Amino acid sequence: MPTIPIQPVPADPNDEVNPKLYNGIGYVHSIETGGAVDGPGIRFVLFMQGCLMRCLYCHNRDTWDRHTDKEQKLTVPEVMKKVLSYQHYFRATGGGVTATGGEPLLQYPFVRDWFVACREHNIHTCLDTNGYALHYDRILEDLLDHTNLVMLDLKQIDPEIHKVLVGIPNTKTLRFAKYLAERKQPTRVRYVVVPGYTDDERSAHLLGEFIADMGNVDTVEILPYHELGAYKWELCGDEYKLKGVHPPPKETVLKIKEILEGYGKEIIL
Ligand code: SF4
Repeated sequence: MPTIPIQPVPADPNDEVNPKLYNGIGYVHSIETGGAVDGPGIRFVLFMQGCLMRCLYCHNRDTWDRHTDKEQKLTVPEVMKKVLSYQHYFRATGGGVTATGGEPLLQYPFVRDWFVACREHNIHTCLDTNGYALHYDRILEDLLDHTNLVMLDLKQIDPEIHKVLVGIPNTKTLRFAKYLAERKQPTRVRYVVVPGYTDDERSAHLLGEFIADMGNVDTVEILPYHELGAYKWELCGDEYKLKGVHPPPKETVLKIKEILEGYGKEIIL
């Protein structure tokens, strides 16, 4: 596996949020107050609007586009008011809050501010991301310093298959993964088993080899592909290209589990 260089974080102590890029508002697709699949315990989940990937299997097609008439514009105090009113529910289960999307890193100054506010209340924070970081700066560092757990989607290590499946190269994601490893950032990797794209043994070994030496990754969550979000593509006026692709058989998922376990990681199914 070739070494991916990590861009150093600029040392400029005045490198703060560019007001042209961040006006204190988060562009939010939706909020779920009892999320059970977005990190440990029950979670308050903020689905951020906007994503630059184009995964063929995306079950949140309606989160891709920015500036839609449905997106909510929220400030951190507005979000925190909601979080604090639900904290008893998620605290009782060892849960917390999760930023997901869409892609939360596209609005990382907002997520940073939100996570800083959560940690002031000792609330567990989870960043569910595809790793598409555009800027490596003090704000990203600060965000990660206030993140208890990163859930990183590694969709496909093979660059050519990744391009077909996701629409863009995996360079940025792999670089972010290496950056997390350098920081020793507690990370759970998520891997979607998509028939015809990621369900083969070679792909599983490529993933295993990539994460084997990442001491910051202790678990891999295997997510079998499903078709539940297909209807959203049609609602958005797009053709769902994986029509006719069905969830992988249990034996396939178990084989991938076995392969990844061979690289020393705990597997969540
Ligand atoms: S990264 Fe997530 S939100 Fe973006 S296209 Fe892929 S599955 Fe959808």
